[in-house]
Amino acid sequence: MKIVLLGPPGAGKGSLAVLIKERFKILHISTGDILREEMRKDSPLAKEIKSYIENGALVPDEVITRIVDQKFTNDIKPDQGFMLDGYPRNTAQAQELDRIFEKTKTSLDCVLNMEASLPVILKRISGRRICKKCGAVFHVTNKPPKVKDVCDVCDGPLYQRSDDNEETVKKRMNVYTESTAPILDYYGKQKKLWTVDGDEDTQILFEQFVQSLNEDKRLHSH
Ligand code: ADP
Repeated sequence: MKIVLLGPPGAGKGSLAVLIKERFKILHISTGDILREEMRKDSPLAKEIKSYIENGALVPDEVITRIVDQKFTNDIKPDQGFMLDGYPRNTAQAQELDRIFEKTKTSLDCVLNMEASLPVILKRISGRRICKKCGAVFHVTNKPPKVKDVCDVCDGPLYQRSDDNEETVKKRMNVYTESTAPILDYYGKQKKLWTVDGDEDTQILFEQFVQSLNEDKRLHSH
């Protein structure tokens, strides 16, 4: 299965990705996670990307495209399943991705577009907590950890993403509307778009997704 997850911040891409990855054992490539990992390691790249992320802006296309290109060139075999989450984020990146696919002789089965309403998005993002050690995602009320601020998976400390504050979320929403939403049309024209209701519970969405797969032969062979 070769898919792209699309949707505004807080639409539930990461949570659905966890279930899809568990069931189908495919590689999950989250550009947000990759960039946060660079920041945690305080790598040379971290200095370059920090201000963009903290301001809710997109990091430059060439930086992120280089990372994705390397993944496909070095880590993913043409027939291996993958789930891209957070890339592409604008039309230029969507075109770059098609170029990478052509170069690495791979292709895309579908783009799962998660739509979500603003109140749901704001509630999810304001309560979101992430494990510093393993990246697992919790929510103060929707999915609280057993022990406050401690990860259920690895006992690591939970933190709030620096870009999960109200002001930055507004900017990220604007970036989504202006830069990312136009690529829905790009994938619509390629007949690859499946739109689902991101306000729904992740488990229900996952079950619907599995059912749709059973009805769609394109995804069977991978
Ligand atoms: P969300 O979907 O919740 O907004 P992500 O974790 O996907 O968050 O991304 C966090 C930040 O990382 C973005 O606001 C942006 O600064 C940067 N980023 C992630 N993916 C990309 C990308 N494909 N292009 C440019 N910037 C990106």
